[in-house]
Formats: sequence, structure tokens, C-alpha cells
Amino acid sequence: MRVGVMGGTFDPIHLGHLAAASEVAHHFGLQTVVFVPAGSPWQKADRDISPAEDRYLMTVIATAADPRFTVSRADVDRPGPTYTVDTLRDLRSEWGADAELFFITGADALNDILSWRDADEVQRLAHLVGVTRPGHVLSDPGLAPGSVTLLDVPALAISSSEVRARVARDAPISYLVPAGVDNYIAKRGLYRDTP
Ligand code: ATP
Ligand code: MG
Repeated sequence: MRVGVMGGTFDPIHLGHLAAASEVAHHFGLQTVVFVPAGSPWQKADRDISPAEDRYLMTVIATAADPRFTVSRADVDRPGPTYTVDTLRDLRSEWGADAELFFITGADALNDILSWRDADEVQRLAHLVGVTRPGHVLSDPGLAPGSVTLLDVPALAISSSEVRARVARDAPISYLVPAGVDNYIAKRGLYRDTP
């Protein structure tokens, strides 16, 4: 099994995440890509993130129609701050020793990866795939030789921050997030008070 892993806060999930996952799945011939919404992301302790259950459900809604995509509750259900090394340990025990894991990160996240907890173990647990993201330079931040692939994906200049800001000022988010996610945000009244 070749399994992609896409971690993120997904507050909310948007088409940039989905296009990146789809392209990596195609490029590496992955059987599946598991989206893993963070429980409480340690890098984002400075802002209020939406409840994990809302972020999890939006991720399920966004990925439901694609037979390659699934969603894991591993990070949402693990107490305490979310670290990628724990995510990968959990998925490794779920999928077994024979599975090849491909951890997908945008160019911005890849640049920070050496500051992550147990960065060396992260590199042993999964092959890292850094993908292009508009506004960020994609480069190998000095990882172990052979442990990272840099991949060009269709450029979508979308961020969750921008989606939240748009909702707060009543601007449209259709075509930036899947229609079901747009509806869910409206139904739950998410992001209206984004500072
Ligand atoms: P925020 O603005 O709240 O940080 P975000 O859009 O960066 O949200 P995250 O949940 O932080 O989304 O990102 C999860 C992963 O998806 C990260 O590895 C990030 O680099 C990657 N990613 C996010 N948006 C894009 C995009 N438009 N193109 C490529 N990769 C992306
Ligand atoms: Mg981000």
C-alpha cells in the first residue's frame, strides 16, 4: 500500500488542499490519501481555531465524493497538542509496517519542518512530499538525502485565513471551498467574527 497523509488545521479545508492531495496521489500512484485534521495545532496556539468536530466534519464533506480520499480522527481524538510525529506513528500502526507513507506539505510548512518535534523520526516514518504553493518558495530545508520530493502542483492561491476573512466581510467563498463546505460554514455561522 502507498498511502498519502495530508495533515492540516483545515479551518476550513479548501480547494488548494484537495488539488495538492489529488496531484500527489496521481504522481506517486497512491491508493489513498488520508486527511488528518489537527486536534489542537501547537503552531496555532495564538489564535482561536474552530472546534475540532466542525473542522473534522468539513473535511469529511469535502472529501466524501472522491474514492481516493479518507479522513482520520487520529489527531482530533488524541488529547494534547498535535505533533506530526504522533500522527505518523498512529497511521504506521494502523496501516502496518509494509505500507509506504507519503506525508504531504505545502512549501510554507516544509520550510518549518526541521523545527517540528522529532523531525528525524518524522523523516524515517514517511517520505516527505513538498508541494508548490503560491507566495512561498519551495525548497529542501536540509532534510536527510532522499527523504523529500519537491513536486509542482496546480497553483491555487487559496488559504484558510483568506477564506475566514472573506466570510467575516461577507465576500463569496464559492469556488474556493467545495459547495458543501460553504453550506456548512453558513449553517454553523463559522468565521463571522474573524478579527
Ligand atoms: P491557514 O491560513 O489557517 O494557515 P492554510 O490554508 O495554510 O490555513 P493549513 O490547514 O494550515 O491551511 O495547511 C495544511 C497543509 O496544506 C499545509 O501543508 C499547507 O502548506 C498546505 N496548503 C494549504 N493551502 C495550500 C495551497 N493553496 N497549495 C498548496 N498547499 C497548500
Ligand atoms: Mg497554514
